Amino acid sequence: MGKPTGFMEFERNAAPYRAEAERLLDFKEIYTPHDAQRLTTQGARCMDCGVPFCQSNAGCPVHNLIPEWNDLVYKQHWRDALDRLHRTNNFPEFTGRVCPAPCEGACVLGITDPAVTIKNIEMAIIDRGYEEGWVAAQPPAERTGKTVAIVGSGPAGLAAADQLNKAGHQVTVYERADRVGGLLMYGIPNMKLDKTGVVQRRVDLMREAGVRFEVNADIGDGSNGSLDARELFSRHDAALLATGATVPRDLPIPGRSLRGVHYAMEFLSRNTKSLLDSNLADGDYISARDKHVIVVGGGDTGTDCIGTSLRHGCASLVNFELFPEPPAGRAADNPWPTWPRILRTDYGHQEAMHTYGGDPRVYTISSTEFIDDGAGNVKGIRTVDVKMVDGRFKDIPDSEREWQADLVLLAMGFLGPEHAVSDRLGLDYDERSNYHADYGAYRTAADNVFAAGDCRRGQSLVVHAINEGREAAREIDRYLMGATELP
Ligand SMILES: Cc1cc2nc3c(=O)[nH]c(=O)nc-3n(C[C@H](O)[C@H](O)[C@H](O)COP(=O)(O)OP(=O)(O)OC[C@H]3O[C@@H](n4cnc5c(N)ncnc54)[C@H](O)[C@@H]3O)c2cc1C
Ligand code: SF4
Repeated sequence: MGKPTGFMEFERNAAPYRAEAERLLDFKEIYTPHDAQRLTTQGARCMDCGVPFCQSNAGCPVHNLIPEWNDLVYKQHWRDALDRLHRTNNFPEFTGRVCPAPCEGACVLGITDPAVTIKNIEMAIIDRGYEEGWVAAQPPAERTGKTVAIVGSGPAGLAAADQLNKAGHQVTVYERADRVGGLLMYGIPNMKLDKTGVVQRRVDLMREAGVRFEVNADIGDGSNGSLDARELFSRHDAALLATGATVPRDLPIPGRSLRGVHYAMEFLSRNTKSLLDSNLADGDYISARDKHVIVVGGGDTGTDCIGTSLRHGCASLVNFELFPEPPAGRAADNPWPTWPRILRTDYGHQEAMHTYGGDPRVYTISSTEFIDDGAGNVKGIRTVDVKMVDGRFKDIPDSEREWQADLVLLAMGFLGPEHAVSDRLGLDYDERSNYHADYGAYRTAADNVFAAGDCRRGQSLVVHAINEGREAAREIDRYLMGATELP
């Protein structure tokens, strides 16, 4: 344990983001440089609990050895902290930046005081590891002669590839986009997770360690330029589907086909591609510049649409939320160590407040119609206020309103995976149209085909995808070799 009295002596002091006025001028990461003194003090707050809820099922899905590396950081043993971190997490540079940190929601200190700044410490350890040159490619000592095809290069596919490569299997990751990374590359924007300096850096290390990547490779039924999944998988000893939950929830109200109404992912992914290809010089993205923007739906996707629109220089910005405003603190039915369902003001909300002087979020509101400008473009949204009655939303009479909007971004979540590959392979589905494969086993109805990540569990988090990728790799290794030493 670090300092036995640290949790009584020191207040929580999380690392700040760059000031809004500065960060809104670019798409660079929002984080400030690590402050070693702050981090060791924060590490000293960890109580090294007998039952560390932070790393339990209630907290970290990959079971990071959190109290161990908190202590090591307090003692300035950064290299050891890095080794401990990599034992459970292939990509702490991703989770240290984008994870909502369920570990902090479950931290025992959180019962009486603000939780330990676990996420800041995780990010600092891995960033230090790269700076010092401690993070290097790790090719396996020998190869097994077995080959594995992985479809999808998001965190689930990448984690599985990394683990299976370590076990000596020859892994090829097939990705239909032109860059590797899934939503790490083309979903989460650059200001939250740098594409070249962070995502591509890890992909390059994996390639150096022997993982093969095929981009622009759409796996399907063989039609329309896709590669036939059955034929491809017959050439491999095992296959993993890690195709994500890519079908967006629509808002099929009158006017849906008007120009200016887009899915959030179209807006975000084209922005990142244009940013990476040409620093936005090619103009091949949906610009929010001088537009009145309404983002329909909250969550990470909604926040990222807000942050991106503000960086384009939108004229105004409103964010509709169907659900009521969450409470400031835990409600009685949401006790520790469950995930706190409380009001969170994320980076995009902070930036909107800085720009326009108020919170962009409007709660308990439902869109009823997109308004036509007479030329086929959206010029606004009609809404009605709603309230929850017996578990269902009911319209409040005489609460109709009209809102100005010439760019509407739909960020209402995802319905599940696409079915081209799975239909071709004759897979089963669960009741939410995800690929059916039991948690822990990850086996689909097809003999040598496994599934992990959002395509199996529905839309979720990077850390869950990493966990599923690691566990699926373990099961694939067992399937291929009869036994496994992968965790
Ligand atoms: C905008 C946005 C922001 C988010 N922000 C956060 C956040 O801050 N923190 C967090 O923890 N989570 C966040 N999430 C959720 C997180 O990104 C996902 O839960 C996670 O990426 C899922 O990983 P995955 O590997 O299962 O799938 P994905 O990351 O979705 O990757 C699937 C990949 O499969 C590829 N693919 C699909 N079908 C085929 C095919 N037929 N052939 C070839 N390739 C195919 C896709 O192109 C994609 O690259 C966010 C999600 C979105 C949409
Ligand atoms: S629960 Fe909090 S205080 Fe306890 S070991 Fe984990 S990080 Fe430290």
